[in-house]
Amino acid sequence: MKQEIAIYGKGGIGKSTLSANLSAALADWGKSVLQIGCDPKHDSTRLLLNGRKITTILDYIKMTGALDYKKEDILFQGYQDIGCVEAGGPEPGVGCAGRGIITAFELLEQFKIKAAYDIILYDVLGDVVCGGFAVPIRREYADTIFLVTSGEYMAMYAANNILRGIKNYDTGKCRVAGLLYNSRNVEDEDRKVAAFAAAVGLPICAKIPRSDVFAQAERENKTVVELLSHKGAEEDVKDLQEEEQKIKELFRSLSQTIIEGIPLYEAKPLTDDELEAVIYNTVRTAAGASEEKSRCAFNN
Ligand code: ATP
Ligand code: MG
Repeated sequence: MKQEIAIYGKGGIGKSTLSANLSAALADWGKSVLQIGCDPKHDSTRLLLNGRKITTILDYIKMTGALDYKKEDILFQGYQDIGCVEAGGPEPGVGCAGRGIITAFELLEQFKIKAAYDIILYDVLGDVVCGGFAVPIRREYADTIFLVTSGEYMAMYAANNILRGIKNYDTGKCRVAGLLYNSRNVEDEDRKVAAFAAAVGLPICAKIPRSDVFAQAERENKTVVELLSHKGAEEDVKDLQEEEQKIKELFRSLSQTIIEGIPLYEAKPLTDDELEAVIYNTVRTAAGASEEKSRCAFNN
């Protein structure tokens, strides 16, 4: 069965990095994967394409007359033949980026690009859940949604906002897989993210460590997953750092769970006050307040 996965989260939280690594890991299991960057910055698929810049759908539409549209001009092959598409967007400050995404999706439909793939992965700038950016979470698209967050307040605030957006489109169907906890090493981070996860009733599907391995891979314009796959020779495998292996294993295991059928949950956002209480009480717990008090405070 075709799966459509959307990765949402605050700007700069690590969506594109995690999306590309996840796509690579899914492809390593033999799945045919299409990654669609839904962000005007159009850098979602760069790590899958070894840094190659591709024509965005919106630029293409601007440059080309409708009768000349060709699928090959907007669909590119990356690592393990992963299909790479960038929706693109207007120049900063000009026009509506969300509207651009809607136009891009129309062309994807016209070409029936998604039909050839087992898994479609949408990487979406998600703290703005306006009509355009919400396209992938509309019912006919994403069936599996991940929220990327760290323990920073604004990251969880954005994740909670996205849950609100999802809830607006849902009529009770479970579509949220859970949180991808991309660590920033802020104070009491594990506890804060765990408290948020518990409060919104979602699992933490993976905890990704803050690691220089990502920067190392990025310098080579590769995912961490690809770095390791290409270091296949025995000599190199011996040299692999423990951290690299851990990160690759994380994506391997997450992608396996997705393929086998990851449990899905309803979107149950918190009110702003509840969210603040979760974070506030978590901090107090660290300072010595009882765990019990912390957990129950926002339920009263
Ligand atoms: P945007 O909203 O701008 O599209 P994004 O959410 O897609 O941003 P990325 O571009 O994936 O974020 O990541 C931003 C930077 O953070 C990148 O340089 C990436 O390598 C780095 N990064 C992401 N996750 C980690 C991590 N776990 N450890 C270290 N660096 C990370
Ligand atoms: Mg991005």
